[in-house]
Amino acid sequence: MADELAPYFLGPYGENNDFFEKTLLELVRDHVFWRRNFHPEDTPPISTREQHTADFLDGTAKMRQELHLLTAQLKRSVPFFHPRYLGHMVSDLLMPGLIAQLVTTLYNPNNIVEESAPVTVQLELEVGRQLARMLGYSLDVKQRPCALGHLTSGGTVANDEGLWLARATKLYPLAVRDARLDLRLSTDDWELLNWSTAQILELAEQVEALPGGVAAVKATRVETVGLGRFCAKHPLVAELAVLAPGTAHYSWQKAMKLLGLGAEQLVEVPTAQARIDVPSLQALLERRAAEQKPVLAVIGVYGTTEFGTLDPLHEIVALRGKPLEFWLHVDAAWGGYLPSLFRDASGALLPRESVAAGFKHFPSERVHQSTAALAQADSVTVDPHKLGFVPFGAGAFLARDRRVFDLVQQEASYVFGASASPEDRYRKPGRFSLEGSRPGAAAAACYVNHRVLPLDAAHFGRLMARSVRACEALYDRLPSLTAELAPQVRVCVPFEPDCNLVCLAFNPKGNRSLAAANAFTREVFADMTVRGDLPVQLRDFYGSNTTVTLAHLGAAELKRLGSELELDLEHPDADGLFMLRHTLMNPWLLSPVNADEANYIEAYCHYIVDLVKALSSPGRGHAAPAGR
Ligand SMILES: *Cc1c(COP(=O)(O)O)cnc(C)c1O
Repeated sequence: MADELAPYFLGPYGENNDFFEKTLLELVRDHVFWRRNFHPEDTPPISTREQHTADFLDGTAKMRQELHLLTAQLKRSVPFFHPRYLGHMVSDLLMPGLIAQLVTTLYNPNNIVEESAPVTVQLELEVGRQLARMLGYSLDVKQRPCALGHLTSGGTVANDEGLWLARATKLYPLAVRDARLDLRLSTDDWELLNWSTAQILELAEQVEALPGGVAAVKATRVETVGLGRFCAKHPLVAELAVLAPGTAHYSWQKAMKLLGLGAEQLVEVPTAQARIDVPSLQALLERRAAEQKPVLAVIGVYGTTEFGTLDPLHEIVALRGKPLEFWLHVDAAWGGYLPSLFRDASGALLPRESVAAGFKHFPSERVHQSTAALAQADSVTVDPHKLGFVPFGAGAFLARDRRVFDLVQQEASYVFGASASPEDRYRKPGRFSLEGSRPGAAAAACYVNHRVLPLDAAHFGRLMARSVRACEALYDRLPSLTAELAPQVRVCVPFEPDCNLVCLAFNPKGNRSLAAANAFTREVFADMTVRGDLPVQLRDFYGSNTTVTLAHLGAAELKRLGSELELDLEHPDADGLFMLRHTLMNPWLLSPVNADEANYIEAYCHYIVDLVKALSSPGRGHAAPAGR
């Protein structure tokens, strides 16, 4: 049976080198041809004669030398491309996007405006539509909401942008009232702080329709007067909080600091099994409502960085307006491409049974419903440089209703003139995105990938399916792994995986101390981590790790983990549980390794068994096992 993904990667062995080299060379030559035909009548400033002078040759020699030194050093890089790499959220790159990125860089378009990127700004807007469609957002420009998305340098900035837009929206009605326009708004700040996004965007349209309305409101908005003055006028705003689970990425702390909202106002929502505990969230919202403390946004995570778990977004959506309204931002930096598994070619959501074909456990009902609920989020972060398999420097921000961008346009929409259609307004990413200059090459990479492998179950979804199946294979290996290691250690998967990330914790048999268990797992990890002084070939596998803070766990979870690992977690001697973390992205994880090993997951399990046994052997001291 042909491997449908085989053509699309350079491959662990560089198997597709012929295509890669040939196409790259062809496209580099094509670029040079384009240069030559711009104004061929001009005299070339670098003459052929010049190219034969000693000084010139010195220059080329220097370049070659430095480039060789660079690439020699780069051999100490992490071998992300190989199925022996199970660590962070990165893998081999999709070759169409990789070539697109390398080649587009030769043209160096800047996606700040079309004027400097006539081609790639269009591609970026199309990438926004491709991603929006995958999330289930509507793209019908004649209806509301109509989605809009653009690329960022990564998930961190996309999250910043989400919070920036949430604040611009949330505080807008107060600014409108301060502007004293004839719109008869309530004098009650609390009421105005609890409008829905849709209501606020309708209000913004009314303001735009009033002569001088936009300018008047601009003068009273938080973005103009600053948070200090705005809070002085509206004391309730000082209590503005963002609710996020303890599993949320640390970029949320940064975003709170950056926007001057304060890290302390990032209120932690309790989790159960590394997913938002909805009753706790509800209780938190009710308490804040009773105390008249406004909620700016709730952050749902679709694919936590540490455990790959998905928050029950459908249940969070259901809490909106009961009683508090909040902006819902979904941080799908990790899981953002998984919805491709759930969509058919027309963009319709597939029923759970058809998604489930070919999997053992995936997707749970909760995962399916959570995926369906993405379409209800106000904004979503997706990282193409993670599960999109493009080079680093590509995040994406998507808004369900593109009108929110009007609230942060550097130049108000009226500047575009009466004749400017909304389509024109939204064609200038530099005007409303947080970042300025951005590489058109990243847009080209995403675009070409999404054209070669459209974001539906039959195409891109197959790549995601492979990743999920590798995770199921490792997860299903747990009982036999536990049995094999029973004489030495206790093994546990702290949180049942939702998609393609799974963690493992160990505790040496007979040990009750958390600190000692952590020290043991750290030794295991030390054998699979990058060391600057060690050639990468000396490692069998590369992994990553994480520590779950006990304070983030509920009593029931502590009890379960304690009993599975036979650890004393009631009187712990450490703050957290250290564990191995496996991100299973590589498309060849279930390919045969050699005559002895059926696949890389099996080989990894054998490796872990050998390693743990070696580390557990009596009288071993603290040296690494021989041969490693
Ligand atoms: C990776 C990640 C981020 C940060 O994205 P960068 O691209 O590293 O800036 C944010 N949130 C989640 C859930 C992530 O996995």
